[in-house]
Amino acid sequence: MELRRSHIRKKNHQRFLYIAITILVACSCISTLAAAQANQVVVKANFLNVRLGPSLSYETLTRVKRGQTLTILSEKNQWYQVRLAGDKIGWVASWLINNDDANTSSNTVGVIKAANTNVQKYPHRNAEVLGTLSQLQKVNIVYTQNNWSQILFNNTVGWIPNSELIITDKVAHNITNNRNQNLNIRSVTTLQNNTKIFARPNPQSHIVAHITDQTTLPYLGKEGDFYKVKLNSGETGYIASWLVSISSSKHAVKSAATKLSEATIVLDPGHGGSDTGALANNQKQYEKNYTLDTARRLKKLLEQAGANVILTRSNDQDVDLASRARIANKLNADAFISLHFDSTSEKTKASGITTYYYSDKKDQPLAQSLQKQFQHLPLPSRGVRFGDFEVTRENEQPAVLIEAGYINNKKDHKQITSAVYRQQLANSILQGLINYFK
Ligand SMILES: [Zn+2]
Repeated sequence: MELRRSHIRKKNHQRFLYIAITILVACSCISTLAAAQANQVVVKANFLNVRLGPSLSYETLTRVKRGQTLTILSEKNQWYQVRLAGDKIGWVASWLINNDDANTSSNTVGVIKAANTNVQKYPHRNAEVLGTLSQLQKVNIVYTQNNWSQILFNNTVGWIPNSELIITDKVAHNITNNRNQNLNIRSVTTLQNNTKIFARPNPQSHIVAHITDQTTLPYLGKEGDFYKVKLNSGETGYIASWLVSISSSKHAVKSAATKLSEATIVLDPGHGGSDTGALANNQKQYEKNYTLDTARRLKKLLEQAGANVILTRSNDQDVDLASRARIANKLNADAFISLHFDSTSEKTKASGITTYYYSDKKDQPLAQSLQKQFQHLPLPSRGVRFGDFEVTRENEQPAVLIEAGYINNKKDHKQITSAVYRQQLANSILQGLINYFK
């Protein structure tokens, strides 16, 4: 009896060990798989330019099409460094990717254990050696497979056996994927024919309809991994979120890559907070409110065109001049536009719109492109002029300052206080930017 019981106990113990090992193996497989798929995004725009560096000013390396998979390696100036098929490395504008799936939490860092560690082209010992790394050098691991780590190396990728690396804890995420938090989804568009619409947010539920490719449906909400949508019949149903591209008021999905869609534009609504800017003759209307309203209108237009837009202030707040220019510098913006309305010491002494630039070379072409469009506005064009303003002078990016009328001139005041004029002004600036980025 005693013997038998101990035998049973031993058997149970063995079984437990088997289960534990099985679980361990299963877990490690899952984590390898997760690491392999981390940071991967599928291109949902019809075309996406891949550039040599993180800005519009770099040449296009190649173009990727809808459905292609990219691996995000890092982020700079809101551009993603990506690895393409064939291990090419390039940069894409992050706002043109729907990266709901992008997850950088598994971005790990490895430390090289020994001196002169070889970096190889493929994950096997006989593969070509791309170069060597020194002891304690840190590397970014982008992918793990069969006990080999793929690392960033000399603008491309190479492989090192895991045994030669100390794989450290997860590093701080250098890709902030915050756009989804404020994403205001308007509609979803199917990416393939026969996309199923389910009665409930569950692929086992009844199929309500099959939808053809490129069908856009109003978005009603999100449940788990499904979007609730409204069909043309008026019925509602659920569509798998991974089978559609989304359109939002914030980041429209581009059907074609334009230079403007890849541009980062900083809009600077003049004044704000305790600084009212110029006053209308009635002393009750402030420049700061009209600059902000114009910036908001322009932001909307630019975002519809696919551009990445940042405002130096989005509310009635104080922002000092130095930090306004700094925002553009920090973001490596493709254009900085400061919006103002002028005044003269005596009322109704001057009228019209002027665009100021500081640098002939850096700023004047932008000023001219914008001013050209102002000829179509109801106020006279005063042309482009040199102006020494801190926000343009301290700006390393193409920067201009627009004075879009005199708020203490009766005729100009009538326009400035009209939403129609401010919308026309925003439209003109948009058109000027489109031409500038052509
Ligand atoms: Zn001003």
